[in-house]
Amino acid sequence: MTDVKSETKEFQAEVKQLLDIVIHSLYTERDIFLRELISNAADALEKFRHQQLFEGDVFDKDAPLEIAISFDDKEHTLTITDSGVGMTRAELEKNLGTIAHSGSKSFFSELAEAAKKDVNLIGQFGVGFYAAFMVAKTVRVQSRSYRPDAEGCEWASEGAGSYTLTSCPGLHRGTKIIIELNEDSQDYASEYEIKRIIKQYSNFVPFPIKVAGDTVNTVQALWAKSKQDITDDEYNEFYKFVSNAIDEPLTKLHFSADAPLAIKALLFVPKENFETMGFGRMDPGVSLYCQKILIEQNSANILPEWLRFVKGVVDSEDLPLNISRQALQDSALVVKLNKIITGRFLKYLAELAEKEPETYEKIWKTFGIFLKEGATSDFMHREALAKLLRFESSKSEPGKQIALAEYVARMKEDQKEIYYVNGPSRHAIEAGPYLEAFKKNDIEVIYTMEPIDDFVFNHLGEFDSKKLVSADRADIDLPKGAEDETKEDTEKPAELESAIAATLLKWIKDSLGDKVKDVVASKRLVSSPAIIVNPDGIFTSSMERILKASNQEHKISSKTMEINTSHSLIKALADMRVKDEEFARSVVEQIYDNAMIQAGLLIEPRTMVERNYKILERALQ
Ligand code: ADP
Ligand code: MG
Repeated sequence: MTDVKSETKEFQAEVKQLLDIVIHSLYTERDIFLRELISNAADALEKFRHQQLFEGDVFDKDAPLEIAISFDDKEHTLTITDSGVGMTRAELEKNLGTIAHSGSKSFFSELAEAAKKDVNLIGQFGVGFYAAFMVAKTVRVQSRSYRPDAEGCEWASEGAGSYTLTSCPGLHRGTKIIIELNEDSQDYASEYEIKRIIKQYSNFVPFPIKVAGDTVNTVQALWAKSKQDITDDEYNEFYKFVSNAIDEPLTKLHFSADAPLAIKALLFVPKENFETMGFGRMDPGVSLYCQKILIEQNSANILPEWLRFVKGVVDSEDLPLNISRQALQDSALVVKLNKIITGRFLKYLAELAEKEPETYEKIWKTFGIFLKEGATSDFMHREALAKLLRFESSKSEPGKQIALAEYVARMKEDQKEIYYVNGPSRHAIEAGPYLEAFKKNDIEVIYTMEPIDDFVFNHLGEFDSKKLVSADRADIDLPKGAEDETKEDTEKPAELESAIAATLLKWIKDSLGDKVKDVVASKRLVSSPAIIVNPDGIFTSSMERILKASNQEHKISSKTMEINTSHSLIKALADMRVKDEEFARSVVEQIYDNAMIQAGLLIEPRTMVERNYKILERALQ
């Protein structure tokens, strides 16, 4: 098909869908079309600059690297020209006829939903080239690749179902996009409008953007300037540029270092977390430069994945300019850069928590989940991450969170471990049996209320040389609280006589069979009759629940049940076992199920409910 001069092709189905959303839902954000086209032109120029380093022979070698925008207010056209890499016929077809995007179907429905809810959100989405159809009756893309042997080609479409490709000889290197404006959009063919939009969205594009002969943008690498010479407005504008945002950042870190590596970095924390807003997993947001030349946009190598919410730029002159993508991934230098910058950023967050607690609280509320993700997976930075974690505890005010360091500062003299307990809410935790012994001994317990929390503590293992221990562990050994000894004798009801207790425990274990690993007398319970604890101490009950939910094959390990032998129910059970063993067995099963529910572990509800009714019936007789 290479000798075909002109051919008409159908858009891929996803493209049609995207076009429909862009044209109908995003209509109120029309200005961004120019931002998208300029950003593509700048990308193409960056790619060219990069290719030039590898390949001696390129077409139109001396064409200046710039973007030019012209307009005709009589013909109602707008033309954006760049001298970037350009596209061959095959590339035009692939890039402008299909979507390579992570392109799940849900992406489009989410995009459409978001567009309805809040157009500001949409600004942060790269809707890309197709945004041109918000303002266009027709779009023509004339392109000539930088490859010496390529041929020029024109792509044209009205944004409906199809596009055409036609040979187009005599072009310069790069891409020219000619937009015939639709009736509602003819105002864009004006110098004032074009300059206004460039100032708003594209001010920091690193190539000159020329409108009617004037360079409109500030071509500068803000990160390379010294802090004193940058205004807040410039920082904010730059943030908007690198993150496609409309709002301002929550906070920023601008630093430079000379040793062990030469680094200039400008990193921003945004205000919103788009992952929790249903947009799916975020891509990395920090680009890698060497002496102001882009090496990799939105680099996955320069920061760990769990810092994907951070936006900005890292520039290191120690990087070889012509490093390839593959080499970046394997480069020991990049690994080192990553380590240094991550460490510096975490240190910055820790300082922020000291100096501007409210700002840090906002970061934690919005992006804490990412830091927790790091704490479950990153060994290198785990200590720095542990300092940034915040949780509610039995001694925090409801809704207020504390740092592990605050816990440690309040620990009892003879307390060696840090305790935590999982539950769906503060109320549920405080009503459950796990806290009883800690309350009695006045020992603080951290409340882990997110599914990921127990994995975080499990991975950290310890904080400040103190072991992190889940309150549902079987072998827990609490230091005695000061007031404990005085209270003990007066308040605690008598225990079962030891011989009776021993027989009862053995009988309970036999009745429950292999549902339990062991049944033992509890030293920790005060007002609950029984509690489920984890004998192996590897997984907490909360972790097991999550493992089970994500993998049906996961077998919940068998638990130990502790029995409160001074509880009136247990004493009555000892009597009932002698009088009516079958009924006593039902009661034991019910106690076990109740304890499992309190442990947050799934039980089979049907038999439980049936049994429960039988017991109630008998109680009412
Ligand atoms: P994105 O920029 O996120 O990749 P776009 O829809 O904006 O998505 O563009 C799709 C692709 O078309 C780009 O990745 C690029 O390969 C190609 N493209 C668009 N505009 C140009 C241009 N001016 N020069 C060269 N290639 C371009
Ligand atoms: Mg783009």
